[in-house]
Formats: sequence, structure tokens, C-alpha cells
Amino acid sequence: MCGIVGAVAQRDVADILVEGLKRLEYRGYDSAGVAVINNNNELQATKRLGKVQELAQALEQQPVTGGTGIAHTRWATHGIPSEVNAHPHVSNNTIAVVHNGIIENHQSLRSQLQGLGYEFLSQTDTEVITHLVHHELKTSDTLLAAVQKTVKQLEGAYGTVVMDSRDQDNIIVARSGSPLVIGYGLGENFIASDIMALLPVTRKFSYLEEGDVAQISRFNVSIFDTHGEPVEREAKEANVSHDSGDKGEYRHYMLKETYEQPTAIRNSLEGRLVGGMLDINTFGEGADEIFKNVEHVQIIACGTSYHSGMVARYWLEELAGVSCNIEIASEFRYRKSFVPKNSLLVTISQSGETADTLAALRLAKEIGYQSSLVICNVPGSSLVRESDLAFMTRAGAEIGVASTKAFTTQLVGLLMMTLAIGQHHGMSDKKQAEITQSLMSLPAKLDEVLALASSIEDLAEDFADKHHALFLGRGDQYPIAMEGALKLKEISYIHAEAYAAGELKHGPLALIDAEMPVIVVAPKNDLIEKLKSNVEEVRARGGLMYVFADNDANFSSDDTMKVIDVPVCDDIIAPIVYTLPLQLLSYYVAIIKGTDVDQPRNLAKSVTVE
Ligand code: GLU
Repeated sequence: MCGIVGAVAQRDVADILVEGLKRLEYRGYDSAGVAVINNNNELQATKRLGKVQELAQALEQQPVTGGTGIAHTRWATHGIPSEVNAHPHVSNNTIAVVHNGIIENHQSLRSQLQGLGYEFLSQTDTEVITHLVHHELKTSDTLLAAVQKTVKQLEGAYGTVVMDSRDQDNIIVARSGSPLVIGYGLGENFIASDIMALLPVTRKFSYLEEGDVAQISRFNVSIFDTHGEPVEREAKEANVSHDSGDKGEYRHYMLKETYEQPTAIRNSLEGRLVGGMLDINTFGEGADEIFKNVEHVQIIACGTSYHSGMVARYWLEELAGVSCNIEIASEFRYRKSFVPKNSLLVTISQSGETADTLAALRLAKEIGYQSSLVICNVPGSSLVRESDLAFMTRAGAEIGVASTKAFTTQLVGLLMMTLAIGQHHGMSDKKQAEITQSLMSLPAKLDEVLALASSIEDLAEDFADKHHALFLGRGDQYPIAMEGALKLKEISYIHAEAYAAGELKHGPLALIDAEMPVIVVAPKNDLIEKLKSNVEEVRARGGLMYVFADNDANFSSDDTMKVIDVPVCDDIIAPIVYTLPLQLLSYYVAIIKGTDVDQPRNLAKSVTVE
């Protein structure tokens, strides 16, 4: 969460910083700010409440000049979104700081610094870093040394960038828990929380590791580890396309990314199912050995990724015959759990930086998990670096805060993992072939599903005046109902709940009336008759239903039910196929509601705070 950009260059950097912020805005959009050191060694800071565009307009009216600067787009944790709480925070007109994360001991540091005479202007935890660096600089030879002393006193998570108006040659950056990437240019160098921000200016990047502090100047980058020892962090060329941040012909990133799913899945499958056989190296070196020894899988994830993990549990137990548990990362990391013998820990995260999931992985290593695998969309991210194995989803940049293609490519990865584990646990050749064929058929099937868009758009009008909605599914469609409900609440702000349809009578049935639309995901499968009984229970109570079903399921529209005809598909891939109509439904309802689809209120992507 939060976007950071910094630059040390020989040209004016304000435009580069603002362009970088625009590309990172999905990470937070409560407020934005920039600070640049001008030729007279003065700090020029401009901040605005709201989106980066507000900041860009302010800078157009009152430009700032200078080659050294830092910028930030905020996702507030401490203190309301306001101009005063926007970053950069400044101490004594000299030290400017941007920060991603949470300083947990901010209260005690604030009291100490107040005792030393520092006056706090904001409610943020971040401001303690600013004054602390200023204080430490009094007894340090360099800004680097002052920052090194400062970070030793900070508890919590941070990615932070510090500059001193009296020193135009350097910015200092520090990482603990929140990602930072250095971008290398010619006679200029950069820092950002994501390479996306810097693609217009460089292609060469290196990632800071936990505890690193670095000094970035025009011609040189020096990195020091937790112990203050100089270290090298390998720089690599990025091969992402420059305009992956472009909306193209689409009105919203979310719609673009929804439509990209057939291609994203094609990319995800590419070269991995060679001649109908899964290439085990897809998961990394040693995958075969690890999968052979797995007796239990523990999946850990948050949000949408948690839902993909829930689907995987059905697949792993039914298709691969391996026991599987799934838990929310923020719960798992704070409880004592039992570790079954030969357990594989599987984490799922679009960004690979999800703070709770990363903490869960680190904990798992301590408590005896045999090995770890991550399903992830961002190469080089923390979860990828710290896991034994990785499946890269290759969804491409996902900018819309509500996840679409990241989710469905995660499911593809999890199904391939099921296949890989199943191969070592007696999965029949026939079943393996079935899974492989189903996967290969997916892109074309999803193209068919996307053709439903206009009929789903018509349906969305029914939701314009609704405040609540209930999603129902059974078996591996239950997590899809959950994902559908999450999508609807995220972007349309309609309160939505998902239930396993068999649970209706244990409570939620009490909510049913004509004001509570009930969305049912109902492919023809072994559970269809059970689901139909649940549908009747709703009908008998005057509920209005929207049923996503294939022809074979035999539903027909009437006064109490609108049926949306989803193409027939194999059972195995049905969770992926049925996800898309629900994404489209949420999208079109949000359009009617007039919400900010790509940047829904209070949310942000890449959740790097716990
Ligand atoms: N905790 C800081 C704040 O609330 C930083 C939040 C962020 O990562 O944007 O200002």
C-alpha cells in the first residue's frame, strides 16, 4: 500500500515523480505529495488531499524545480486523509520523509521527541521518522548514518525515503517489511515501491532486502545490510512492457483486466503443458522432490487470494487425494497451529508483498513446514524470493484494485499444482489428461463467457436501488460465490454476503424478501439437485433470484428468477468459468451506482500493512 517514488538526477524531476505516482496510484489514493530540493537548497513541498491528479494540477499552477526529490501517494493508517497528514513530512524545513507502512512504537517516539522540543504537525506515525532523523543528524557525520541510527529505533514495517535539503546529492532509503526497488539510470538513479513507477525512465532494477539501507546518488548506489555491512543486490533488466499501465480502449482498468483473462490464462499456460504433460520445472528447481514428499498442504492467503485457495482445497482433496487446510494469513500468523508431517505451505498473493501472508510464510519456516510454494503475479517480489517454489501467474500488471485476472490465473496455477501433486499421489492418467484438456479449453471458454456482457449489463439495473445481496453456491462454487460477494461490496458498496447454499436454513433465510436479491452460481454438477432444493427454499419465501447456470442445469426464467445462460464447461474448470459473469455483474452494478470502480473508497492494492 502507498506509492513511493524518489529521484536523484541532473534534470528537473517533478514530472518524473508525478508520472511515477500516477502509475502507483492503485496502491493508495487518499492524498499525494511531492518535495523537491531547488538550486538554493530549499525544500519545495506540495501536497494535496485526494488523487494524484489534484497534485498534478497544483504543480502545473505552481511548478517546482530541482533534480532531487521524493513523492508519495497515501493509504492512510494513522490520521485521517488530509493535506496535513499527506506525505512528505518535513522537520525543520530540511529533512523530508515519505513512508509506507506502520511505525508501531510511534507513540513513545513521539513523546520522546516532543520532550526534545520537536513540534508535531500531523497525526501520522510517519512524522516521528522525520524528527528522529533530524535529531540523529545532530550527532552523525552523514544523513546515511542518521538514518541508520533512526531505523534501529523503529518498530513495525516501513519502506522509507529520506532527504536533506542541504544535500542535493543523495537520498537515503530503508526497507523493513515494505518493498522498495532501486532504478538505475545514466547519471541519475531512482527509488520506488514498484518498478511500474519507473518504467518511463529505466529498465534496470534491483530490490532492497529486509533491513537494507541505501544511499542513492546520481552516479552511485551504496547498499548496506542490517549490520551496516556493504552489500550488492543484483540488478536485472525488467521485461515488462512500458505501457502495461495503459487503459487502452476500456473505460476502466477493471473492465480491461476482466477482458484480458483469456489472454492472461493463455500466457499462464504457455509452455507449461508440453504435449499434454505438465512441465514440473514450472514450479522451480526441486519441485518434483518436494511434491513427492508432500502429505499435507496448508494454504495461506488474504482477500481474493483466499478465495482461490478455498477452491484449491476442493481440488487437492478430490483430485490429488492430499489433505489440505486453508486459513486467512492474519489469523494463522497469530495463533499456535499444529503442523502435520511433511506439510507444504502454499501462499497466494498477487503482489507477493502482502504483509500478513509474508509474515505467515516466515512463521511457517520457524514452526517446521517442510517446504513452501507461492502462487504470485510479481517476479522478484518478497514472497517469491523467500519461498522454495513459485508459480508465476503471468497475468500482467493488474491495476484495478478489485482483482480479476490475478484471481483466475491463480486458480490456473493452483489447478496445475493439484496436477503436479496428484501425479505423485496416484492420480490416474485419465484424470491427468482430463485436467490438462480442461485447462487448455479455458481461454476459448472464457471468450464465450465474455460475450454475456451486455445481458449482464441489463441485469445490473435491478441492483440500482438495492442495499444488500446474497450469493449462494455449493462445493467448489461456494468460494466463487464468496468472491462474487466480495467483488460486489468492494466496488459497488452494496453489502453482500455469500453462503454455502446448504447453510441457508441455519440463519440467512430470515433475511429473504423482495429487497434482497439472491445470486446463485449453479453449473450442472453432482450437487445441482441439492442446490435446486435451496433455490426452492428461497422462492417459497418470496426471494428474487439471479441464477448463473448452464443449459444442462435446467433452470428457466420466471417471475421470481432470472436465469443467465453460462456456456457448458467441464466441472473441473467451472469455478474459473463462473467467476467472470460475477465480475461483470459487479462492474456494471458499480457503473450504475457511479462509484470509483478502479479505486474504490478506503481500499488499495498490494496490502503491505498488516
Ligand atoms: N502509516 C503512514 C500514514 O498513515 C503511511 C501509510 C501509507 O503506507 O501510505 O501516513
